[in-house]
Order: sequence, then C-alpha cells, then structure tokens
Amino acid sequence: MKSKPGSSGNISLRRGGIADGSMAGIYEPRGPRTQKSLARESQSHRRPSTKDRPPSNRILATLPPAEYERLQSYLRLVPLKRGKVLWEPNQPIDSVYFPNSGMISLVAVMANGKTVEVGMTGRHGFVGTPVLLGVQSAPFRAVVQIEGYAFQIQSDVLCKILAETPRLEAMLRRYVHVLAMRAAQAVACNCLHKIGERLSCFLAISRHIAGSDSLPFTQEFLAEMLGCRRSSVTPEISSLKSAGAIRCNRGRVYVVNRGELERRACECYETVRRLSDPFRAS
Ligand SMILES: [Zn+2]
Repeated sequence: MKSKPGSSGNISLRRGGIADGSMAGIYEPRGPRTQKSLARESQSHRRPSTKDRPPSNRILATLPPAEYERLQSYLRLVPLKRGKVLWEPNQPIDSVYFPNSGMISLVAVMANGKTVEVGMTGRHGFVGTPVLLGVQSAPFRAVVQIEGYAFQIQSDVLCKILAETPRLEAMLRRYVHVLAMRAAQAVACNCLHKIGERLSCFLAISRHIAGSDSLPFTQEFLAEMLGCRRSSVTPEISSLKSAGAIRCNRGRVYVVNRGELERRACECYETVRRLSDPFRAS
C-alpha cells in the first residue's frame, strides 16, 4: 500500500503478480433473498481464481487486448479489506486501484474529525483520478467500505504507460468526468431531497456498485455517510424495513426487495446508476 514510487526513468519498477479476472462482483437479478442466502452471499467475495477471465473491472475488461497486455505485467491483485485506507487527505497517491469487487468511498474529513461521503467507486471505475490530472494528492480520504479485490498499479508507472495506451487514457479521462458529474448530482441531492429518499438512494447505489445485496452498513455509518444525525436515519431505516425493502442484522443491511428500495429513492439513483457504468462492452 505504501510502496514508494520508483525513479522517473525506470518503468519496470515492480511487476506485480497478475491474477484475477473474477466475475465474483457481478450480480444477476434474482428474486427476494432469504436471510440465510443473503448471509451466504456476504461470504462470496472470496479470493478470485487466476483461471477466471476477463477482469470484472469494466475499464480493464473493455480494453483492446494489446493495451491490456501492455498494462498487465504491472498490475498486482490486492485484497480490499474493509476499513483499509488507500490514501489520507493531502498525502501522496502512490497507487491507482481498479476494483474487481467491493466498494471504495472518498470521504471528506473535517477539522473536528467528522466525515461525509463525497464519492464512491466499484467495479465500474478506478480510484486515483487526481493522478490522471497530474495532481499527486487530494483533500479526501479513500477508504474501503465493502471488501473485495482490486488491481493495483503504481501511479507513476500508469502515467508512463498511458502514452502507449490511448484507449485506456480515454476511458480514464471519461471516468474523471463521470465522478465530477456524480459529485454535482450529490450537491443537488443534498440540497433538494429528503433524508429518506437519500438513504434509499445511497443503499441502491451501493448495491449497484458493489454488486451485492449484503451491505456492511450500520445505522451510525449511514448517518455519517449522509451527513446527518443517527436519530434522523433510524426512523427511515424502520420505514424501509416495514415496507419489506431491507432487513438489518448484525451490522449489515440486506436488500430483500430491490424494486421497493429503488421506488423510494430519489431520482438521483437513476442518474447516478446510468453514469456509473459508461464502459459496458459492446
Ligand atoms: Zn437525490
């Protein structure tokens, strides 16, 4: 995680152990889950097999073969353990991550230590957009919210390879635009939509990004991510449970009726969902 960037003239800094390709992060629409099946699903983010191809990450999966081969030897498969901090605010971003599964949040950290979620990325994108723009740090913390796996590449190595991989560069730039648009949507959402709508939206987006109906979210965490008090979230959680949209057990939220959850979300859900996956393979 804290690997040092190499010297600027040496591109073969560290050749990672290429692996993965798991489709473990992809979900298929299914009927309502039982508590037991959801619990099993939460255990399903096992270490991917090297036999699984192609990568689940949308950007890597849709690269032309020649560009992926150019990149491949510098990628290293790393586990994303929940709570792992990929970088702290204003600290050097040594590596960029392409998640195959799980979810990573960008959170703003206030002077009093309070945090609020300002962006999240999963298998549809990458984490490390400042690097692409020539900026070596960001005023946000990048932290794993849902465990999974990602391909890691050193920031300086990626920047050098981009000159030889025009499709990758175009896709990364496009994803920077996606994140900017999602941030703009979040500003409007925070100003105009009610807590209940925003909560449903956050849960629905998290489910979409992580590709799982089992979300390791406590009420305290949800209040923090939404930037409100826990006392504001509790009645909204109860309402979702009463409607049969979710179940809560042992610090996890289980989406048991996706349609009902999405119906209760504000319009931002559809907007963000469309933005989240601009790289579907044709
Ligand atoms: Zn909204």
